[in-house]
Amino acid sequence: MLTLHGILELRDYVKHWRLTSQKIALVPTMGNLHAGHLRLAERAREAADHVVVSIFVNPLQFGPNEDFKGYPRTLEQDKARLAEAGIGLLFAPSVDEMYGGNLEQVTRVDVPGLSGVLDGKFRPGHFAGMATIVAKLFNVVQPDVALFGEKDYQQLQIIRRMVADLAMPVDIIGVPTVREADGLAMSSRNQYLTAEQRSLAPALFQILKELAKSLRNGRRDYQRLELEALRKLSAIGMRPDYVAVRCANTLSLPEETTGEFVVLAAAWLGRARLIDNVEVKINS
Ligand code: AMP
Repeated sequence: MLTLHGILELRDYVKHWRLTSQKIALVPTMGNLHAGHLRLAERAREAADHVVVSIFVNPLQFGPNEDFKGYPRTLEQDKARLAEAGIGLLFAPSVDEMYGGNLEQVTRVDVPGLSGVLDGKFRPGHFAGMATIVAKLFNVVQPDVALFGEKDYQQLQIIRRMVADLAMPVDIIGVPTVREADGLAMSSRNQYLTAEQRSLAPALFQILKELAKSLRNGRRDYQRLELEALRKLSAIGMRPDYVAVRCANTLSLPEETTGEFVVLAAAWLGRARLIDNVEVKINS
């Protein structure tokens, strides 16, 4: 597998594919790859002739008190995993290569409505930082298709909106969440959990599934359902940021007649901030 670190060399390398109308897929990641990332890469191989995986821990999407410095960086291990998965090209730029040491002044891409709710309330600036790096990677790689995990549900909707609003010629594919055997959504941040916390962590998905079941059973008292789930999370020792019942895709507040929901949550467990979501479709 070839690893490139520079924008110009990457552009030069993919140019031939573009000129010969071969289809390119991009899988943006922050590295420390697990089976969730590899599922994205696998789907990318099905969707295109060539796959570019990017690894970049993007300082722009971390708040001042977040884990940018301590975020797990495991490039050699990641390379081995990608090579084993049959990926041909890894793009792993430095912060300097992407931003030229000018983080404050760099142009931002902002998707205001969707970025200001849920996770965006607790992580100011996070989604603008994320959308900015994804837009830049699109410009560098010029992919036909890009793949994102449904685990980061709000992120996926923001990317879809950005691509639509800015008429970016990229198809976005959402890939279902890959989970551990006990239901915990795979995440690079799960390794911050102690053994005891790790045994408690699957409760987040369980509690979201219980809420989803209540919706299927006809309950429409959304705020009450959120409150009940928040209480359950606190009772087992998590510190929830939010539990929210929203309309699928738009993330707007549901009404009595809403038929497609997503239930989302973020909760701290020790040093780890876990996020997860469950979609619910009611057959009318
Ligand atoms: P990250 O490295 O955390 O920025 O994630 C890179 C991409 O992998 C994003 O599109 C994530 O949504 C996706 N991803 C992360 N964890 C999972 C998972 N457990 N299942 C599916 N996709 C995932």
